[in-house]
Amino acid sequence: MNIHEYQGKEILSSFGVRIQRGIVAHNAKEAVDAAKELTEQTGTGWHVIKAQVHAGGRGKGGGVKLAKNLKEVEEIAGNIIGMNLVTPQTSAEGKKVHQVLVAEDVYYPGDNEPEEYYMSVLLNRATGRNMIMYSTEGGMDIETVAEETPHLIYTEEIDPSVGLMGFQARRVAFNLGLSGTAFKEMTKFVMALYKAFENSDSSLFEINPVLKTSDDKIMAVDAKVTLDDNALYRHKDYAEMRDIREENPVEVEAKKVGLNYVDLDGNVGCMVNGAGLAMATMDLIKQAGGEPANFLDVGGTADAKRVEEALRLILKDDKVKAILINIFGGIVRCDRVAQGIVDACKNMGDAVQVPIIVRLQGTNADIAKEIIDNSGFDFYSATEFQEAADKVQEVLK
Ligand code: GDP
Ligand code: MN
Repeated sequence: MNIHEYQGKEILSSFGVRIQRGIVAHNAKEAVDAAKELTEQTGTGWHVIKAQVHAGGRGKGGGVKLAKNLKEVEEIAGNIIGMNLVTPQTSAEGKKVHQVLVAEDVYYPGDNEPEEYYMSVLLNRATGRNMIMYSTEGGMDIETVAEETPHLIYTEEIDPSVGLMGFQARRVAFNLGLSGTAFKEMTKFVMALYKAFENSDSSLFEINPVLKTSDDKIMAVDAKVTLDDNALYRHKDYAEMRDIREENPVEVEAKKVGLNYVDLDGNVGCMVNGAGLAMATMDLIKQAGGEPANFLDVGGTADAKRVEEALRLILKDDKVKAILINIFGGIVRCDRVAQGIVDACKNMGDAVQVPIIVRLQGTNADIAKEIIDNSGFDFYSATEFQEAADKVQEVLK
């Protein structure tokens, strides 16, 4: 589950990670009040107004702006709230901004310029261990750094039996070129950050930038935090941070009815049972020259109700020009699934406007094929996997 920057910072802060402080605001007036309150605490008077949406690159899209007085806070917050923010990570329509974070300006001019670093914590899938990935090149796309100057990205792997060791945190500070107070501050920052990562059951932290202020404080200026859905049951307070306005509406609905659905860009809707078969189906569609419109695993029960729920979800996507149903009937017999498909289509009537290719394999597959062929609907039946994928291409033409 993804959360907003301000929520991620709350979590970080609760584990002792220093953050750029801020207050969330839902309208221009709240933003001004927030700025006043922050000024009382810190006294700088300058603020950054940051759009809170689940997407990075907000700075580039005009969603992060500096306000030098309260009038500017009001103006900028008023402009950002309600806008459709387009960033390199959103679609062309952008994301609607419902709230902003009014944060203290921490880039105050001093004798030394502030420095920006990159730091993330994530699982290294190759070794099965968590790692801290960091770079001196903060504030820009880490993908660009990886492409152009990969030697400037460092990693520190954590042995799960002993956790992050002090010498590792010091090595991070050393590789970032720090010394004196900033070195000590960075060591503390890294230790606290990893503690936060482990204890919050997160699957990703990305802090870009981590800032060294001109007076040698180390703090998180941005926070992308992804929480592990499977661990949310033990973090009720984090579960409440969910903002479904930020999520794909069809995926939200799928979750409600217990279907595993992921929206994709193609035009072939897929309904499959089992995640492995679903992935193989997507591969075969691609190999035959098509593009899957979704990943959908209907799970163990493929009865009429479930098939209907799944069909309705798939058809919500106007990109879908054909549907491939690929079900393996093991425990659930193919004839029952076939009847389920026919009943679902009867129930849905005119809602089904695209050709449906059905491949049922396993127990009673022959009876199932008869049911499909004699249903009176415009189904295309197939017994072999490849045949089904080729049929999809044929009907699309
Ligand atoms: P992102 O663009 O979505 O990654 O949002 P960030 O939170 O990383 O902010 C984007 C950029 O805004 C940062 O890289 C900074 O350069 C700038 N920024 C963030 N906070 C401040 C601040 O307090 N003062 C100033 N002057 N700039 C800031
Ligand atoms: Mn950032």
